[in-house]
Amino acid sequence: MNEFELIGQLIPGLAANRTVVVGAGDDCAVIDLGSPGEYLLFKTDAIVEGIHFKANTEPERIGHKALGRCLSDVAAMGGKPTNALITLALPATFSPEKVSRIYAGLNALAKQFQVAVVGGETVLNPERILISVSLLGVISQGKEILRSGARVGDAILVSGELGGSRLGRHLDFMPRVQQGQWLAANFAVHAMIDLSDGLAGDIRHILTASGFGAELEAAAIPISPAAKVEPTSALVKKSPLKAALTDGEDFELLFTLESAQVATLQEKWLARFPEVPVSCIGIITRDQGVRLRQNDTVSPLEDYGYSHFS
Ligand SMILES: [Mg+2]
Repeated sequence: MNEFELIGQLIPGLAANRTVVVGAGDDCAVIDLGSPGEYLLFKTDAIVEGIHFKANTEPERIGHKALGRCLSDVAAMGGKPTNALITLALPATFSPEKVSRIYAGLNALAKQFQVAVVGGETVLNPERILISVSLLGVISQGKEILRSGARVGDAILVSGELGGSRLGRHLDFMPRVQQGQWLAANFAVHAMIDLSDGLAGDIRHILTASGFGAELEAAAIPISPAAKVEPTSALVKKSPLKAALTDGEDFELLFTLESAQVATLQEKWLARFPEVPVSCIGIITRDQGVRLRQNDTVSPLEDYGYSHFS
């Protein structure tokens, strides 16, 4: 059973109540606690030594990554992150200095986005470090951007450059919080997700939720310099394009909006965020599935995004 099958099995049995606007299945839950004009966003995520970072990874980068992943999910709703709780599971032999440094990385990123760390929990875990972050955020009611809103004919855009994050960027990425809020405030973005498992896999979450398909233009996909590194180790054996399509942990924003708005968006984005590229990479289609147009040939794109425990 893969991660998505497991989640699919659990979701129907989840307890619910009248506060739930959007439950499990989007980047964040959307909650109505009665605050006028405002919804809460709620997210949790965990990283584990040996999977998301190594035993010898610089501790500050571990803390940065733990919070950054949750911030990226709030960004993918168009929201403003506000408060975090941290659960840290540690072997009995933990180094207090290492824990301080993990928190230093986490706090530095939190301050950058005016997020308050308001508590947490420390537990023993025999073998390895695990860090779980729960994050609250806010969004104006009706401004939340879900995965389910894509429409036929929408342009598909992506921030930044994709692929090769395992060479280091997965520990240092800057969550696109400002860009997500700016998009929600200024454009009628129909659907959005952050790229955690790779473009080829993650775009399917928008398509499944929205009920449509997509055609991507290979030449338009922005490939990061890290994805173009010559294959020198067992870690990097993909073509740059395949790396951009399938590598996980890019933490860029993938979103759709009316094609007619693309030129305006790109012009204003460039003026507001000159250091972050934004690319139009394809179109939402009535035909299901994902197709890739390359050198005037259109072929189905395999679903080879990263999936946990498979
Ligand atoms: Mg996400």
